[in-house]
Amino acid sequence: MTTEFQAFDLHPALMQAVDELGYESPTPIQERAIPVLMSGRDVLGQAQTGTGKTAAFALPMLHGLQTDEARGRVQGLVVAPTRELAIQVAKAVYEYGQHRGVRVLAVYGGQSYSQQISRLQRGVDIVIGTPGRMLDLIRKNVLDLSAVRYLVLDEADEMLSMGFIEDIEAILSETPPTRQTALFSATLPEPIRRLADRYMSAPEAITINPKRLTVAETEQRYYIVNEEDKLAALTRLLETEEMTSALIFVRTKVRAAELADALLARGIQTEALHGDLSQPARETVMNRFRRGQVTVLVATDVAARGLDIDDVSHVINYDLPFDPEIYVHRIGRTGRAGKSGIALMLATPRERRRLQEIEAFTMQPITRAKLPSAADILARRDAQFLLKMGGQLENASGNERALVAQMVAAGYSVEDVAAAAIRLARAQEQQRPIEEIREVPARPQRHAKFEEKPDRYPARPPRRKGEREPGMVRLWLNVGAAHGIRPRDIVGAIAGETGIPGRAIGAIEIQPQQTFVDVAERHAGQVLHKMKHWKVRGRVVVLKASD
Ligand code: AMP
Repeated sequence: MTTEFQAFDLHPALMQAVDELGYESPTPIQERAIPVLMSGRDVLGQAQTGTGKTAAFALPMLHGLQTDEARGRVQGLVVAPTRELAIQVAKAVYEYGQHRGVRVLAVYGGQSYSQQISRLQRGVDIVIGTPGRMLDLIRKNVLDLSAVRYLVLDEADEMLSMGFIEDIEAILSETPPTRQTALFSATLPEPIRRLADRYMSAPEAITINPKRLTVAETEQRYYIVNEEDKLAALTRLLETEEMTSALIFVRTKVRAAELADALLARGIQTEALHGDLSQPARETVMNRFRRGQVTVLVATDVAARGLDIDDVSHVINYDLPFDPEIYVHRIGRTGRAGKSGIALMLATPRERRRLQEIEAFTMQPITRAKLPSAADILARRDAQFLLKMGGQLENASGNERALVAQMVAAGYSVEDVAAAAIRLARAQEQQRPIEEIREVPARPQRHAKFEEKPDRYPARPPRRKGEREPGMVRLWLNVGAAHGIRPRDIVGAIAGETGIPGRAIGAIEIQPQQTFVDVAERHAGQVLHKMKHWKVRGRVVVLKASD
């Protein structure tokens, strides 16, 4: 159990969950926001995914949950821009609240109404969802927000750029004015500030400003991978990097133990260092690493604090640190004493913004690199093998030579014999299959224009009538201005129902009886499939590829 989380005085059932998840200490946003939220005040937090913001708002919400007559009515509400985020937050809230017996429901477009409605009728404590679907459920009189005591707007700037601001206002007006409100956003453009002014009461603004530290001249690289591919990516890196020792950082002690086990299972000698180890056990692990008996050490930041290890060739950020200052501490363990060090980071696509934040903080370039391919690994294995064999050429014993001669006498060529010997010698490599990794495409940075023009959606390049944006396909809808359709209905419905990001929706041309909308090519199939039963003002919308 951590002492720092204890300082918050959270309900014991929540402490148990935090402990089981392996959290060792609160992240900076948690340290700042939890006490303020626990005191009942509103919070305007500037924090992105990956900073631990979900627990920052969820733990106080769960702590304040009433278990008496309010039970079963919706007390907590989280509004999120996408289906993906709604699911992720619901999962986290459920995990944090599981020992408190909390009933959590995620509502988002694309899911059947009947299931959501029956869950709501059976009683739910916390609802997490996208604005469009929430409003639909409110209008169907199945989502009653009159008992909401705690409301969170998550990734508010993202909701703004997707055209959800009016929906959010409509949702807010369904909740009691006495509710507590927390708003989290990576940026705070003017419309978000206005929203905060109108709907929050004297919110405490929380921004995390890390202390500036200097960074050693270390080669820094990052890789974008999906969470489920991180292990495969790490394995490839460990196999191809010129590495003498690697210190791998993860978020929690549970992850440290799991990762060390997974690497061991892949034949990589690894130890884990985390806050739960006794002092003698820590010493043993550190000594083995220092002496080079193990080359890979997985650690949490807390465990590494007292780590007296001078120099490692690689620091690998398997999980991004919660704040840039920690990143600097982490990578300070490589590149010491004039030696060249390498710092690598595995970031998920949602963590791109945090990467930039870290880069800006360190004021040193961190370059995106490509993971070694399966062919690279095989080539590396061949090269390593040849190197090893080269070392043995002089050492062959008389007996070994006699065996070769015996095979040659039996009619095999020397090449055949050598090839068979290589096959046998490399048999154990077959036990190290190269796991598949899904490629994550590069994409332009979002929001770049946004902060300069806070009142408008991101500017799009001028387009001549009928001309399609590159990378987009055009869809046709059988409704138009005459049916009261507006651009934000389209953006809201498509983004809400399919979960695709707002920027994947391009130009929208509304004509009196029909509408054309451009959608990123790779999402078009999904949009056509998911929007089959879309209705606008009671009318079924037909959606087709237009050319
Ligand atoms: P979030 O920014 O809320 O999406 O959280 C990012 C990740 O950090 C999630 O996988 C959380 O489980 C994890 N996390 C949140 N708080 C902590 C903490 N105090 N210690 C370790 N991991 C945490």
